[in-house]
Amino acid sequence: MTADKDGNNTLEEQEQDVPEQPPEAVEAELQESVPEKLDVHIGKTWKEEDWRKLIEKLVSEGLVNWQGVAAVTLGELNPPQVGTSLASNANIKKRYPPKKAWQAVKSWFYDQPLGCRECKTLLKLEAEHIVPKEELGDAADNLDNLQLLCKRCNAKKRPSHKNAGLTHLTAESGLMWILLQFHPKTYDVFKKLCRDYGMTMADIRFQEAWALAEWLKKANRY
Ligand SMILES: [Zn+2]
Repeated sequence: MTADKDGNNTLEEQEQDVPEQPPEAVEAELQESVPEKLDVHIGKTWKEEDWRKLIEKLVSEGLVNWQGVAAVTLGELNPPQVGTSLASNANIKKRYPPKKAWQAVKSWFYDQPLGCRECKTLLKLEAEHIVPKEELGDAADNLDNLQLLCKRCNAKKRPSHKNAGLTHLTAESGLMWILLQFHPKTYDVFKKLCRDYGMTMADIRFQEAWALAEWLKKANRY
């Protein structure tokens, strides 16, 4: 199973979106590993201290406050709709008597080990097909074939996203990292930085992310 562009992840959405999502339009991932661009792999090279300083800087600049940081973190600890979407998936529902799917999904859900099966994070967990739907078809929608992975580790499993695991940032956070870390003066510089840092998504996602710079400029804060 894959996540949609909003980071939500449901089987129903997957049926609509996958398998034909053009990779460049789905989410930023890293291109072929480029050793001279090691900073691309910020998930590995940045230490806890670096992340702490970044968040403190954003707070001191008034871009976010601690309440906001807490709210986002708390929200990402809650895997919303992972259970309910599975329980409403037609392929899963038909395996159980009417109105009994939720009980089965709930016990599968509660039985899962703590955190992402791969990297152990508790953030952005998604249900993921162990054997992909491309191989099994509808039979893949079976609780025995599902596990919890974080959005990053889930993306990493896709053949088109083979370097995704090099960073623990998601596409949206990677774009903001580039914007706020480098403060590029113009959109063109921002776009170049995104490409230099291995973002493979369509330009429109860069343009979308650039909105924050435009808003800050209007407030004389960029
Ligand atoms: Zn993970």
